[in-house]
Amino acid sequence: MSFASFGLSEPLRLAIKESGYSKPTPIQLKAIPIILAGKDLMAAAQTGTGKTASFVLPLLQRLNNGPKVKANQVRILVLTPTRELAVQVAQNVDSYSKHLPLKTCVVYGGVKINPQMMKLRGGADLLVATPGRLLDLASQNAIKFSQLETLVLDEADRMLDMGFSAEVGKIMALLPKLRQTLLFSATISDEIRKLGKTLLNNPLQIDISPRNSTARTVKQWVIEVDKGKKPALLSRLIRNKNWAQVLVFTKTKKAADALVLYLKSDNISVDSIHGDKSQALRTQALENFKTNKTRILVATDIAARGLDINELPHVVNFDLPKVAEDYIHRIGRTGRAGLPGEGISLVSADEVKLLAAIETLIKQTLVREVETGFVSQHKVPLTLQTVSPAKKPKKLKLKQNNTEGKARPGNKSPDTNSSKGDKRTGRERSAAATKPRTAAKSRRNTGRNNRPDGTR
Ligand code: AMP
Repeated sequence: MSFASFGLSEPLRLAIKESGYSKPTPIQLKAIPIILAGKDLMAAAQTGTGKTASFVLPLLQRLNNGPKVKANQVRILVLTPTRELAVQVAQNVDSYSKHLPLKTCVVYGGVKINPQMMKLRGGADLLVATPGRLLDLASQNAIKFSQLETLVLDEADRMLDMGFSAEVGKIMALLPKLRQTLLFSATISDEIRKLGKTLLNNPLQIDISPRNSTARTVKQWVIEVDKGKKPALLSRLIRNKNWAQVLVFTKTKKAADALVLYLKSDNISVDSIHGDKSQALRTQALENFKTNKTRILVATDIAARGLDINELPHVVNFDLPKVAEDYIHRIGRTGRAGLPGEGISLVSADEVKLLAAIETLIKQTLVREVETGFVSQHKVPLTLQTVSPAKKPKKLKLKQNNTEGKARPGNKSPDTNSSKGDKRTGRERSAAATKPRTAAKSRRNTGRNNRPDGTR
């Protein structure tokens, strides 16, 4: 099916063509007709699926057919949890609407409010906003909602995670009851369902991404390392593997700052985005990274949520996230729109519980690797996900082969070879497998290569 089948206007079709899109993504196929028909929608879709275009394109079409926007009014409001996401959505809006005579605008905190107030004087057909700044503008009568036709809540799950539910409630109280409402969320939790019930009217539902999954095009693996050696290991990886563009996640702002200092001292071009930096610095850092002026961008989860960096090849978890779901969001920065990517986690022994939670969530045992010169003193214990199948010998064999097979396509490991001629019973094999430390050791000692791409 092509974009032509949606009946989008010529200016939109031209913009789609200029964006280089040849066919709609699955979310676009499902969402565009629903939104064009003016219905409410609750959609589970991760970033990277083309979800922004799935609501922006049909909404622009509807805008173009409607009345003119009046002073200080807004016809379509898109709420996003972070400033970066607001800017990104607005960039998408700009490129899709460039052949249409529509006024679009973006407002967010951390910058002066006056220029935003001036811009809103003439009204906005489509306004992208973060909740706090929108409420500030509304309290100063710079924005009114009596002409509002559609509300979009983008990344609603993160909006709640970031504690915006009170702000969202206040905004809802300002909006006309009769409107179209669209809710997009990476996952539809009970909390999101509850929010949807209060905001949406008889919504249609779409679930595009299988729950709790990472893109199949992203190769993921873990490198075991002692905590204190992580900066040196990262530096080595960047240099030895010639990584040109890497988004690195740390757990805290302090850790992000410390890592930036370390990499700078090692002459690696690096910047960071986190909540303690001014919006101007965050925007600049992101722009430099996107345009390859900076090689490494170190980020905390909140600042990096929803970022779309064209063809980003590598994401590194310098620290594992505290919340397992954030692993999926982090890894989701690469492998977008079906492109290949790599997600590497540097894991120290104290993070084993976090690793186990991630592996349980993604239903996958991450392949482990050790870098020469960085063999950890404090071993990372095998996770339950790795050892639990031992209780069911038959399944154990399947699982082990499966994991190995996935990790190293076309590259037989010594273990896989030996298991073929293995004369042991399933019970004996499973008993052996319950000695994880020995297994892990032998994996290292044989120098067996566990990298997903089969290289060293
Ligand atoms: P999103 O999920 O909205 O963050 O989009 C992720 C990426 O997919 C963005 O870089 C879009 O430009 C790109 N994209 C959106 N729609 C399509 C499409 N139909 N074909 C190819 N790429 C697309």
